Amino acid sequence: MIDFELSQEQQQWQRKAREFTEKEIKPLSWKIDKGLTQEYHWPLIGKMAEQGLLSMGIPEEYGGSGLDILTMSIVVEELAVGDGGIAFTATGNSLVPLMIAGTEDQKKEFLALTCNKKRPGLAAFALTEPHAGSDAGAVSTTARHEGHEYVLNGEKCFISNGDLARLYTVFATVDKTKGIRGITAFLVPDDVKGLSRGKLEDKMGFHSSHTGVVVLSDVRIPEENRLGQEGEGFKIAMKVLEVLRVVSCGAVGVGIARAAYEAALRFLTTYSNVRAVAGQQAISFDLADMLASIEASRLMVWKSSWMMDNNLSAGTMSSLTKFYASDMALEVANKGMQLVGHYAYREDYPLEKYVRDAKLLQIYEGTNQISRMVASRGILSG
Ligand SMILES: Cc1cc2nc3c(=O)[nH]c(=O)nc-3n(C[C@H](O)[C@H](O)[C@H](O)COP(=O)(O)OP(=O)(O)OC[C@H]3O[C@@H](n4cnc5c(N)ncnc54)[C@H](O)[C@@H]3O)c2cc1C
Repeated sequence: MIDFELSQEQQQWQRKAREFTEKEIKPLSWKIDKGLTQEYHWPLIGKMAEQGLLSMGIPEEYGGSGLDILTMSIVVEELAVGDGGIAFTATGNSLVPLMIAGTEDQKKEFLALTCNKKRPGLAAFALTEPHAGSDAGAVSTTARHEGHEYVLNGEKCFISNGDLARLYTVFATVDKTKGIRGITAFLVPDDVKGLSRGKLEDKMGFHSSHTGVVVLSDVRIPEENRLGQEGEGFKIAMKVLEVLRVVSCGAVGVGIARAAYEAALRFLTTYSNVRAVAGQQAISFDLADMLASIEASRLMVWKSSWMMDNNLSAGTMSSLTKFYASDMALEVANKGMQLVGHYAYREDYPLEKYVRDAKLLQIYEGTNQISRMVASRGILSG
């Protein structure tokens, strides 16, 4: 039996997110994008925390909102209509490792950092290195076991919330000769000696989500901060990406595409001189194609989310959703620009921002080539 009607709770969260987007995100989004009001960025994060939008996937017993993945996807789509980077921040992507592999003590200690509504703290997922991107198994940050401590050394790059996080999940190798079986995950608070945050990347889009370098020089952390067992880090990272491909890419992509579609439709139906153009088949068919692909992608996001909520194996479905919804987002944003014409090329019109933001979705959380590779392996292995 298939039922597409959202539950009361899901409708409430959807409404809440829609209102938050209209009232809080939309007025600031383009200004933050242009670097005009960076000082508003942190207060906006604070407001998200107050509304429980920064801790959506964390169970209520730890101070979170306790949403399942499907409800999170519904909320994230709404936030992404206002701003992709803000929606991504709300996914709390960096806490997923702790949710998946943390012990009870680790969850109690570290989840409190971000669930604090008065003083929110962001987290970071630190896997990528200058020479380890798609090939995550090439991680060269080391973790040396000394007594009851680990000593971490290495450099991570392109880390979201790199400069803001209070907690880093760092992936390091305990034995390089073991390849991916040496990779281990560690919980590293931001105030440990030896952790420094390097320069922020000057990016094409997603300006509301900071991306930076994190350097670890003889960082000492207790054994209790190891997430999972030695050698389980790669498995944890892949499990985390399964969730992020759906929520941080798929749902964000649907939201950005919806924003682009709505902007183009508004333009074409508002001005009398362009209304006649909108009636032409070449234009109206584009609108139909845009809406069809948004609807199809949303169904994929919902199905993948539902599969994960029901503990079904979702690796293939999540990868299909990732590349399909992110390719769709860029295509729809680009089509929206084309339909609007020269105004869309102006920086004070939102469409060029949607194109810049959507492009990232094809790159992070595993590039779309890698997502196609994971999906095709799943298909061929039955
Ligand atoms: C804004 C932003 C935020 C990010 N946030 C984070 C974060 O929070 N944490 C984190 O750990 N990382 C983060 N990343 C890094 C991101 O996950 C990597 O960029 C991504 O994994 C790709 O790695 P790479 O850029 O090194 O590309 P490479 O691995 O060098 O790949 C280059 C090209 O080759 C292709 N390619 C590589 N290998 C194969 C293959 N086997 N088959 C087919 N094609 C292949 C890729 O698809 C790509 O097109 C972020 C990146 C960006 C841009």
